[in-house]
Amino acid sequence: MELSAVAESSSESVVASSQSAQTIQPDTQSTAKISGDMHAEVVVLGAGPGGYTAAFRSADLGKKVILIERYSSLGGVCLNVGCIPSKALLHVAKVIAEAKAASKHGIDFGKPNIDLDQLRTWKESVINKLTKGLSVLAKQRKVQVVQGIGRFLNPHALEVATPDGKKIVTFDHCIIAAGSTATRIPGFPDDPRLMDSTDALALTAIPKRMLIVGGGIIGLEMASVYHALGSQITIVELMDQLIPGTDVDLIKPLHKQLVSRYEAIYLQTKVSKITTEKKTLKVTFEGAQAPAEQNYDGVLVAVGRRPNGKMINAELANIQVNERGFIPVDSQMRTNVPHIYAIGDIAGEPMLAHKGTYEGKLAAEVIAGHKVAFDASTIPSVAYTDPEVAWMGLTETEAKKQGIDYEKAVFPWAASGRAIAMGSEDGLTKLLFDKTSRRILGAGMVGAHAGDLIAEAVLALEMHADMQDLSLTIHPHPTLSETLFFAAEMAEGTITDLYIPKK
Ligand code: NAD
Repeated sequence: MELSAVAESSSESVVASSQSAQTIQPDTQSTAKISGDMHAEVVVLGAGPGGYTAAFRSADLGKKVILIERYSSLGGVCLNVGCIPSKALLHVAKVIAEAKAASKHGIDFGKPNIDLDQLRTWKESVINKLTKGLSVLAKQRKVQVVQGIGRFLNPHALEVATPDGKKIVTFDHCIIAAGSTATRIPGFPDDPRLMDSTDALALTAIPKRMLIVGGGIIGLEMASVYHALGSQITIVELMDQLIPGTDVDLIKPLHKQLVSRYEAIYLQTKVSKITTEKKTLKVTFEGAQAPAEQNYDGVLVAVGRRPNGKMINAELANIQVNERGFIPVDSQMRTNVPHIYAIGDIAGEPMLAHKGTYEGKLAAEVIAGHKVAFDASTIPSVAYTDPEVAWMGLTETEAKKQGIDYEKAVFPWAASGRAIAMGSEDGLTKLLFDKTSRRILGAGMVGAHAGDLIAEAVLALEMHADMQDLSLTIHPHPTLSETLFFAAEMAEGTITDLYIPKK
């Protein structure tokens, strides 16, 4: 969908959103003092998905672009130590799990033989293929990549600590896409057996007994990987459910599966102390379900990420950064300094690559003078767990909290031929819709490929589809995509694959 036009907004006159900062004038005097080694019309700070998208779109719109990246390869956390390597490993985990499940259907592959070095090499090859592709795309567009850590000197210049010394890059416009960093828990020891997600993805060893601190998306995805590779997993989560904030009915089937696979899941519990011992890490717990002290061979801490707003000397460019490290922006991604933009994790929640890429394109287009603003109806979320959980639009929890008069239809995958054929019958697809207009408000799914299936619901929401639109759209049979169609048929009262007694 095209971004909608912002009525009569010149690139400098958009009304800031409630959380955005006040516009101030750049300090042009200090700019005049610095002559740069390089100059660009658009400088992008950070080459993650948001940053490289912004740089490429800017170049395609005719701008001279410099892309500053601290690491030698492009792609940021997502490609190098996040979404992509985790998906490669989750693919392997799925293969192992499916091979194991097949033994119940008469096909026994035996115990897997895991060559960790080869697995690591393959994972690296996946990353290299993609990051090299990005370098080619940058060259094709004549985007100049400068490797080094960039920090502001003033509102029109950045200093970059490159491997060949300090370089000054001056700019007309800047897009900050400097991302986020894994949150650390203060007081935990410095020990290679105590990992963050980057360490865990490095796959240096498979701990026999592994504790995952944080039952959010990263914690659960890495738990799947290490469980498949042979670790006994325990999860400890501060809140009263896994992936807090997600509708409970979507989490239940996942929780049930994980309880059957893992050693333990402790909710409303936290780790109060970790001490290093010769062979293991000794962990003390606190909270409602806290067990006695336990020893683990490895601990992964995945308790969220912090934006990098305080690491770029933003104050020297007069850019407002809030106490958490986010840079407030308006609906055109502009910071309080009119020619400086911020996108992706550093510009606010949710910290998701697909939000960053959307915002990156938008900022590039605003700089090029297009009258566009952020008007996406929703940013979908996916946990690539087994089963996957995906949701978009309004959640039921939010609908209740906001007092929205909604109706819902929930299709159990136990009635889907395809789901049964692939052993995914405990999944479900839920649609929330407006009682009067019957337009879709939100959707949630749990089950195999939920992360792919949710895209149809996102499109339906963007197109203001109603339940009739969805129920009259012919879906291929037998597919999991039918579960959305069946849910819409339930809403319409036309379903024949289930019997629902008349009220
Ligand atoms: P998260 O915020 O999703 O989950 C962290 C979890 O840790 C929460 O459930 C929280 O309640 C819990 N927690 C916090 N402090 C704790 C403590 N002391 N003890 C026990 N539990 C504690 O964060 P994450 O999983 O680290 O992910 C970071 C970011 O990266 C998130 O914004 C996430 O959405 C994003 N991400 C997305 C994907 C994806 O889209 N598939 C994958 C990975 C990461």
